[in-house]
Amino acid sequence: HYNFCAGPAALPEAVLARARDELLDYRGHGLSVMEMSHRSPEYVAIAEQAERDLRELLAIPDNYRVLFTQGGATLQFAAVPYNLLGLGGRANFLHTGIWGKKAMAEARHLFGDAPVAASSEAGGHAAVPRQADIALTEDAAYLHYTANETIGGLEFDYIPEAVRPDGREVPLVCDMSSSILAGPLDVSRFGVIYAGAQKNIGPAGLVVVIVREDLLDRARADMPSLLGYRTLAEAASMVNTPATYSWYLAGLVFQWLKADIGGLAAMDAINSRKAERLYAAIDGSELYSNPIARRNRSRMNIPFVLADDRLDKPFLEEATAAGLLNLKGHRSVGGMRASLYNAVPEAAVEALIDFMADFEQRRG
Ligand code: PLP
Repeated sequence: HYNFCAGPAALPEAVLARARDELLDYRGHGLSVMEMSHRSPEYVAIAEQAERDLRELLAIPDNYRVLFTQGGATLQFAAVPYNLLGLGGRANFLHTGIWGKKAMAEARHLFGDAPVAASSEAGGHAAVPRQADIALTEDAAYLHYTANETIGGLEFDYIPEAVRPDGREVPLVCDMSSSILAGPLDVSRFGVIYAGAQKNIGPAGLVVVIVREDLLDRARADMPSLLGYRTLAEAASMVNTPATYSWYLAGLVFQWLKADIGGLAAMDAINSRKAERLYAAIDGSELYSNPIARRNRSRMNIPFVLADDRLDKPFLEEATAAGLLNLKGHRSVGGMRASLYNAVPEAAVEALIDFMADFEQRRG
């Protein structure tokens, strides 16, 4: 079976096998990782190794802190404004789809206005705004965007610059939930990066935040203390009990990326191959289509519709019977979506393409 779920998503088979081998007795310690105290030397070693491996994979500069926290990417929609609006100003947003809009709605819910610096809404979110179209407000405290819109299948092909009209650069904040670790990244361009784990990092229940150190002093005083980046950083993400098992599994994924894949440049090449093959199959067919501008087509989440939506049901039923799981599009948009995260092997894409061609020949 191949799992194309958008999240929680497939994990590398090698990681699952490793976790199974260590499930009951972690490396001779006589207990499962799930049963360890997060303060024990064994667990602290697991946690620290995971951070080291993530730092190595993404070449995270020393002036950034890495936090392993909880509450999903959704709680970061609140944590970011709490942490960055303490000196005043307003959050500015790039609106490119459902997730960016949710982040913006949460900032507004908490702190009133949150201006849109650029939007792709008028064009149905088929292409991201260009740099020249991004206009921050004079009082912008930071610019937030969503690198890859998981539902729309729309991905930035560049890292935006966050410069106010007065020429001052403000921190760039990025929700990277569905594209982190898909390839190399210049972390130094960002103030804050956050990502829910359940796509390219590991199982659900964990959120990774990468924050530039000088931003730890901008928090609002009225913030719930557990949301505080400084609080989390000073306690090595162990203010309270962390998501210990998810953190451990994330560590196994980082080791898999390093040792089995050979790092993020290698992962990047694999991901490009996978996505190019599927888009070529969609573009070359009469039955399937994808509306996104080529330069902004997501490599991770590939939505497509069938020319006749009466075929949706048989398509999904036959796909499932053929072992191709979770191809149903998000409930808000319908159609299909194939998520090709890191753990989805090239063989899965080949199997999907073969199935789609066969289905089109029989039913198209
Ligand atoms: N942001 C993006 C881009 C997502 O894809 C998702 C979830 O799918 C979220 C945020 C919300 O994440 P969570 O469910 O971890 O709160």
